[in-house]
Amino acid sequence: MGELQKVFDYIEAHQQDYLDELFAFLRQKSISTTNEGVSECAQLLAGIMVRAGIEHVQIFPTKRHPVVYGDILVDPSLPTQLVYGHYDVQPADPLEEWDSDPFEPVIRDGKIFCRGCSDDKAQLFAYIKGVEAYRKVNGPKLPINIKYLFEGEEEIGSENLEEFIATHKELLQCDAAIYSDGHMHEMGYPILLLGHKGMVTMEMTVTGANRDTHSMRAPAIPSAMWKMVEILHSMKDETGTVKIEGFYDDVREPNQLERETAEKIPVDVEGIKRSYGIDHFVQNRTGDNYYYNIVFEPTCNIAGLFGGYMGEGSKTVLPHKVTAKMDLRLVPNQDPYDIVEKIKKHLAKHGWADGVEITTYHANFPARTPIDNPYVALAAKAVEMGFGEKPVLFPSVGGGGPHYIFDRQMHIPVIEIPLARADQNNHAPNESMGLHGFFCGIKMATALIEVLAGAKE
Ligand SMILES: [Zn+2]
Repeated sequence: MGELQKVFDYIEAHQQDYLDELFAFLRQKSISTTNEGVSECAQLLAGIMVRAGIEHVQIFPTKRHPVVYGDILVDPSLPTQLVYGHYDVQPADPLEEWDSDPFEPVIRDGKIFCRGCSDDKAQLFAYIKGVEAYRKVNGPKLPINIKYLFEGEEEIGSENLEEFIATHKELLQCDAAIYSDGHMHEMGYPILLLGHKGMVTMEMTVTGANRDTHSMRAPAIPSAMWKMVEILHSMKDETGTVKIEGFYDDVREPNQLERETAEKIPVDVEGIKRSYGIDHFVQNRTGDNYYYNIVFEPTCNIAGLFGGYMGEGSKTVLPHKVTAKMDLRLVPNQDPYDIVEKIKKHLAKHGWADGVEITTYHANFPARTPIDNPYVALAAKAVEMGFGEKPVLFPSVGGGGPHYIFDRQMHIPVIEIPLARADQNNHAPNESMGLHGFFCGIKMATALIEVLAGAKE
């Protein structure tokens, strides 16, 4: 730690410089869904990397938004770390709900407020400044190789990332990937996230008669609405167990180490209930254990349900068309495409297939890095050095991400180290990034260089 303390001192002395440079990066819009400023932001990011001493910086075009790559290659026999992050951001609307301009960063109460500050610009920026600080203090030669892969499409589902990785495997070859995104524990602890759920999003439309009709004909004309209710009711029971035949067939039940790790996640059950205004959790297959279910249980969620009369007052109509928007979050080794087939079979088996149309949107796979992978312990050590406290380990989170792409294409461990606070409001008005997590993250990124150096010894 002796040498590292000098780097930490350097980081503390340069906090204002980091904020100034980060703020310029934050002011540059990069809204991937509307294509506002994305290529300009890629240019700006490439410049930040070059100024930090990162080599071979390149902007790779994809079918939509560019990937920004750079590396510092020392010796192929040394461990190679890949840092993944994204420089694109969500739209800022609704603008009237922001307390300050969404693209003019300001600091209030120890937090930066700006669209994209926590998701994900300040987080990936910490790794750039980490390596810069390390070399300013210790000289340019690193004890590891580092590669940086920053995409511009994460907020729109990483559409072209798999193809980019599949066609640049040699360039990206590495021993472990550090995934820079996400938020820390609700109670403020730093964490390591070792997995992400897969997901399939779909729309199911039930059509009955060829037009809406007066509800006096309900005794004779079949109702699309009632059929939809029956279908949805058949898919999940009151305990939260999914009833689609074969849904759990490929679920790999958590192993002993995964269970024990999930049990150690601190949880404030009463606080969570209070915060949502509920008095109980979903029972689920194995009970109502909050983190067990968030981490290990697949879901079948109705995100929206519409059809018939939705206006004010009453209207006596028999609707002929109803739509449900759904998302199913999956765990290893469920396959999103297979799950859609199982839903179709479920409908056919009950005689409902006629007049039901299913459209799928996004599909991605679940992935988990084994907890006993040696890089997990090393990353935990770096977090402890950077934050001054041990991280809580999450075998997986409830959400998804491009983790599976690295898993499927490169077969490498992926470890997410979130720097944002749980109350970051990403994707929502008043997005914020805690200064504590940001500066500890820069220190953690330098500690990572030092601890990963020992990975191949
Ligand atoms: Zn996001």
